[in-house]
Amino acid sequence: MAGNQAGHGPHEAVLLSADTVITGHRREVLDDAAVLVAGQKLAWVGHTRALPEEYRGVRHVPLRGCTLLPGLIEGHAHLCLDGGKAPFERLETARPEEVVDCAADALRRMALAGITTVRDLGAPIFLAAALRNGAGLGGRPGPRVIHAGVPLTSPDGHCAVMGGAAKDTSEALALIDDNRRHGADWTKLMVTGGFLSSAACSPYRSQFPQHLLDTAVRASHARAMKVAAHAHGVEGIWAAVEAGVDTVEHCTWMEEGGFRVDAALVAEMSRHGTAVSVTVNSRARAASGRLPWHERRSQLALLHTSGVPLIAGTDCGIGGTPHDDLPASLDAYTDFGMSPVEVIECATGANARLLGLAPQTGTLTPGSWADVLAVHGDPSESLTRLTDVACVLVRGRPVVKPSSPPSPYAALSQEN
Ligand SMILES: [Zn+2]
Repeated sequence: MAGNQAGHGPHEAVLLSADTVITGHRREVLDDAAVLVAGQKLAWVGHTRALPEEYRGVRHVPLRGCTLLPGLIEGHAHLCLDGGKAPFERLETARPEEVVDCAADALRRMALAGITTVRDLGAPIFLAAALRNGAGLGGRPGPRVIHAGVPLTSPDGHCAVMGGAAKDTSEALALIDDNRRHGADWTKLMVTGGFLSSAACSPYRSQFPQHLLDTAVRASHARAMKVAAHAHGVEGIWAAVEAGVDTVEHCTWMEEGGFRVDAALVAEMSRHGTAVSVTVNSRARAASGRLPWHERRSQLALLHTSGVPLIAGTDCGIGGTPHDDLPASLDAYTDFGMSPVEVIECATGANARLLGLAPQTGTLTPGSWADVLAVHGDPSESLTRLTDVACVLVRGRPVVKPSSPPSPYAALSQEN
């Protein structure tokens, strides 16, 4: 990796140093440390005092009082929904170009908040093709998007407004192929109904016969697509896990009139490494309605201690959840028994691994993409520091220029 390119145009190397570096894996926290950005990648990471001789002359941006960590990964987003009061109704009436604008605005806000990768889990087909390259950003740096295209659902089922209703296996396979043609990396299976769309389908039970789910998962995996299953009730979660999905979204264990966490199913998920996508937003601790926080936190604590991998994400885009909500949502994860550094790893290195993006992103490691977030203060002491952004790089390109202190960063910034 060339670290000796200083002075050679847009890909010159830059050393970012900070009081603390959290690398996003192995619980590693380095004090007085730095990362060396060379083009789109990281060339070196370590204690500043141990900087190799060959890098001594490179441009140096000291971020005093700051912490460097990997860019955050939002594991469950809907870029087509606006996060306002009635996002599904708005999606139904909006023109396609308005939906693309909504997605572009979402991506800009996410990048400014330090989110450098996002998994979109449901959008109309016209958005799917545009998403991969950062729809509407006009060449400016934005988060990398992996996505599921149009979610597979039953006729009149959850999110059928997005256009993915299938009444039998052959229609399901046709949708998976169409999504693949539009660049989808994932299949989103609406295994149960939901609470947010107006469709009359149960959030508790599977919307599909088991053989359809089995076939959809097999077909997706054969096309190198992973599968995310939306499931609330125990019956639906069992159906998803038996079909072999990679991630279960929500996994709220809701039943008519209460909750039932199925210990045998938790053990099965742990054994298979089936991950649970937590969909916790920054208001979760105040939740007292259908899914009160005391219930949700004990479910997620149990999954965590049982060895079920957790995926960090907010379900942003749904009502009242803005797309840049992830950093503010993460402090609540300490209620599951995680330390702040474990939570950061959940939203960076572990998310990357579980979503199939490691080792390219998710950790500050030589050779990985330079997806970097710098915040003021030390989030290993308090995760509330994650919202005080000092600087963000996406593949080496600054989205947010360093705010501390004024620095010789201008040359790097000209790349925009
Ligand atoms: Zn969702």
